[in-house]
Amino acid sequence: MKRLFLVGLCLLTTFISLAQSTLQHPDQFLGYTVGKRFTPHHRVLAYAEAVAKKFSNRVKLLPYGTTFEGRPLMAVVVASEKNMTRLEEIRTRHLQQIGLGAAPTATSSSNNTALPPIAWMSYNVHGNEAISSEAFMLVLHDLLDPANSVSQKILANTVVILDPDLNPDGHDRYVNWYNQMSGTTPDPSPLAREHSEPWPSGRYTHYLFDPNRDWAWQTQEITQQRMALYQQWMPHLHADFHEMGPESPYYFAPSAKPYHEDITPWQREFQQIIGQYSSRYFDKNGWLYFTRENFDLFYPSYGDTWPTYNGAIGMTFEQGGGGRAGLAYQKRDGDTLTLRERIDHHYAASFATLESVADRPADVVKNFNSFFQKAQNNPVGAFKSYVIKTANDEGRIKALRKLLDNNLIRYGVAGKSQKLTGFSYQSQKNEAVTVETNDLVISAYQPKSTLLKILFEPQSTLEDSVTYDITSWCIPYAYGLKAYGFRERLTPTPYPTAATVSPASLPANGPKPYAYLVRWQSAQDVQFLAGLLKNKVRVRVAERTFKQDNQSFDPGTLIVTRAGNERLGERFHQIVQQEAAKRGIRLIPATTGFVAEGADFGSGSVFSLKNPRVAVIAGDVTTPTSLGEVWHYFDQDLEYPVTLLDGNALPGSSLAGIDVLIMPQGYNYGKIMNDRTLTKLKDWVQAGGKLIVMERATGFFVDKPDFGLKRKEEKPEAKKEKTDRKPDADETLRQYGEREREAISEETPGSVYRVDLDRTHPLAFGYPNGYNALVQNVYDYDFLKDGWNVGYLRKDNYLAGFVGRNAKAKLNNTLLYGVQDMGKGSVVYIMDDPLFRGFWYNGKLLFGNAVFMVGN
Ligand SMILES: [Zn+2]
Repeated sequence: MKRLFLVGLCLLTTFISLAQSTLQHPDQFLGYTVGKRFTPHHRVLAYAEAVAKKFSNRVKLLPYGTTFEGRPLMAVVVASEKNMTRLEEIRTRHLQQIGLGAAPTATSSSNNTALPPIAWMSYNVHGNEAISSEAFMLVLHDLLDPANSVSQKILANTVVILDPDLNPDGHDRYVNWYNQMSGTTPDPSPLAREHSEPWPSGRYTHYLFDPNRDWAWQTQEITQQRMALYQQWMPHLHADFHEMGPESPYYFAPSAKPYHEDITPWQREFQQIIGQYSSRYFDKNGWLYFTRENFDLFYPSYGDTWPTYNGAIGMTFEQGGGGRAGLAYQKRDGDTLTLRERIDHHYAASFATLESVADRPADVVKNFNSFFQKAQNNPVGAFKSYVIKTANDEGRIKALRKLLDNNLIRYGVAGKSQKLTGFSYQSQKNEAVTVETNDLVISAYQPKSTLLKILFEPQSTLEDSVTYDITSWCIPYAYGLKAYGFRERLTPTPYPTAATVSPASLPANGPKPYAYLVRWQSAQDVQFLAGLLKNKVRVRVAERTFKQDNQSFDPGTLIVTRAGNERLGERFHQIVQQEAAKRGIRLIPATTGFVAEGADFGSGSVFSLKNPRVAVIAGDVTTPTSLGEVWHYFDQDLEYPVTLLDGNALPGSSLAGIDVLIMPQGYNYGKIMNDRTLTKLKDWVQAGGKLIVMERATGFFVDKPDFGLKRKEEKPEAKKEKTDRKPDADETLRQYGEREREAISEETPGSVYRVDLDRTHPLAFGYPNGYNALVQNVYDYDFLKDGWNVGYLRKDNYLAGFVGRNAKAKLNNTLLYGVQDMGKGSVVYIMDDPLFRGFWYNGKLLFGNAVFMVGN
């Protein structure tokens, strides 16, 4: 009886609540209580779609693309009925106010009603931090709840944009795996397999990039699509929801130091406001949290910093849990952390954030607008203009323009020739410069001025050395540009779109050239070469400088002769011209193989390239992001086939047929790199294979028989000095509380060094202005005794970024790029990461050299 009565009561309550509103709770929609299990991406979106359908007066969907694996990307706008009817007006007038929209028309400019601030909440950028998408459903539901007074206030005063899942491929990788691992009752024991997510984990994008390091560079298609939408709205606030290790409680703003120096007083003040609002929600429930630790505001490509450098209040939230925590996880203190608790915390932080904006909408809008006023009239930074030399640098300029366009940074050309004095990024001194008519000019007087300044600052000011990420990202160094900063304001003229290269403009009729020449200068040239080789075109390369028709050609110049390609018939010219057009390459036709100076095209020092079959070691011996960079490079940049070979299969598999084998960075090679595997690799190299070993993978070849890699030996005098010298008092009296800071004195979290190059070696082709490396480790490799030391650091090669005081000396006289010839093959050692996050543009050519140029 009693039971029947209860069921009856439940049904009655459900009926009443349904009658009051047709707003379906996620529990009802999903068929389980939120937090009972993980919800796949398509169900999360289906809930948003169902809600939007019923509440089109307050909810609008903004589909913005598709992931590589075909999952839809979508943001959800929630606003009051009044604001929803004028949503497009809010958006366009907002953009006009900050200088990023079209000029106001007569009708729109007469409209002076106040605009509400836009608050953007990003959930689940890291796929295995999967609680965020669950919290999203509760936030969406409760924002529409007429009985919720906080929601009423939020919608009355703000426009809310929710992105339920920034990285659906990663999210589903995690959720599908977890759902396969768990039984009827979650096992909280940390030993259970449901807490050991396998390599590569759901954190990353399809190509194993970290999407929360990609905001500025936009190498991943999910980022590109999202940023296009984001910049159509330019929200006043951006909150980025994450998870950290399961033993930590919860983190919210204010951020840890360092703060970038260009973060405004208002943005700093709002960090405190967020802390006050969040702590109020957490205190009420008795939940633990911390602030001002670990998560800083410096590196510009995060989900908190990039929005901050774009005028917004940017912040990160971190819940303890992540891929390890599953549905329930027993912590060291004995407490069990449940999925529902984690969701509730993100839910509370979401409402705290939205409320903090809703309580002061006019202040938020005013300060945001003044950020952009200042940017356009009185920009931050010493340089008021930047000039990039464009002559003979089409590839790099094209890549730079794409980066600027993706960030809505405006630029043009000088429009006239003039002599000025400016700061040279390469020499780091003021120099006389002739600015040419077609040089690219970026004025600091523009809406995106702060972001521009930060991306171009030659040295980023670090108020605290303990940071989470690289400390230099300076674009002229990363892109290898000849760049100058000026204290005077230069006004660029519009970039001549028609003046872009028209490579297919070779005479259609008339004699076909004897050869096509292509200068070897940038990543696009590698793309072009890969396209030719994939199409079985034979390509030759000049090992030395030559002159023809009064033009000088550097080593590395591609010489695509008719000779050797006869079997392609007329298709030869078609393929070459099509590939050039596709990549924007300038073809220089040559009518003869005879040169004025240097080696003729038929000479032995003009070598032929192979069409190599490339394999890369994948799987849990490698670091996911490092493998991802190589994979993405071949598959997306070059569109050149690459075989991903599981490292665990290496000892047992034949390498026959593979010409190039790449070992990306990895810490776990130890389990496969036994003597047998080393012998196998050596035999394969000696028979003609090329092994490219990167970053920490190089450590597994040190002191191994026949591999010439050695650590630097400490000089006897230095050793003696160390033992003789009495330690300073402050060295012996170490403070426990300073241990983190002390550890960093031995390291560099990512700084920039000018590399000394042997430019005659094919690994260094294409770098007449040198190469700047991003140094992330303290390499201690000696020069090769029996091999080519192609790139190295001497004594004064430091350019930018933080290097610990003890690390600086260790980086002197260090090998960075070495090539060891072995039998018919070769081993290429690359100690740094020239493909770093896919954004260190200038390294893509170096890596292309390793793959295609070395060893021919
Ligand atoms: Zn995260």
